[in-house]
Amino acid sequence: MKFAIIADIHGNLEALEAVLEDIKIQKCTHLVCLGDIVGYNANPRECLEIIRKMNIPCVKGNHDEYCSTESPLTDFNPYAAQAVTWTRKQLTEEEKKWLRELKYVRMVKNFTIVHATLDAPERWGYVFDRLAAAANFPYQNTAVCFFGHTHVPLAFVRDTVVRGGTYSKFKVEPGKKYFVNVGAVGQPRDNNPKAGYVIYDTVEGTIELRRVEYDIAKAQRKILEAGLPERLAERLAYGK
Ligand code: ZN
Repeated sequence: MKFAIIADIHGNLEALEAVLEDIKIQKCTHLVCLGDIVGYNANPRECLEIIRKMNIPCVKGNHDEYCSTESPLTDFNPYAAQAVTWTRKQLTEEEKKWLRELKYVRMVKNFTIVHATLDAPERWGYVFDRLAAAANFPYQNTAVCFFGHTHVPLAFVRDTVVRGGTYSKFKVEPGKKYFVNVGAVGQPRDNNPKAGYVIYDTVEGTIELRRVEYDIAKAQRKILEAGLPERLAERLAYGK
């Protein structure tokens, strides 16, 4: 089986369509979504519709949660909060209900998916380093777990110690555990503006990071036309 693992679409329709096209070209047989379908960019409803139509396994992200409830936005920076407030006004009650009912953690075949971390998935912690990854591993019952949330594709491995770093493609080795961030479709933050996602080939036992060009200018135009913060448009060009 060849799984495409996508995360952090954030209402970026141009990026999502480009990634889905690449997934087709790469002949993936299955698709999995790690949440944050909405928030930040201008097409939350269109992206949500595409994901729902495909009927694929999906877990809840923090933006999915906050955009579908009226919870106070104290943990968000002003730009993110503005985007959440805007997105709340776009989504229908039925769409919000669908987002609210997403689970925090799911098993897909022999691997686990989560938006943030397994140790406290509803607390939305960020895993950027080995220390944070080490806290996750005791809660990981499968050899491989994919996560999103940071928008920075990093892979952490535990054998006798926990190591981690950037990656492009690697082989899953027996006896080790892998906690792998798949990057972001709709708002990359690793100084690479191309949309990111991962292909997990369970037959070859390989995990590969893909980067895909998309129409950034069009996504930026829509952000400005929607009256969303200019900074959200600018950052797409830099991958920050
Ligand atoms: Zn996100």
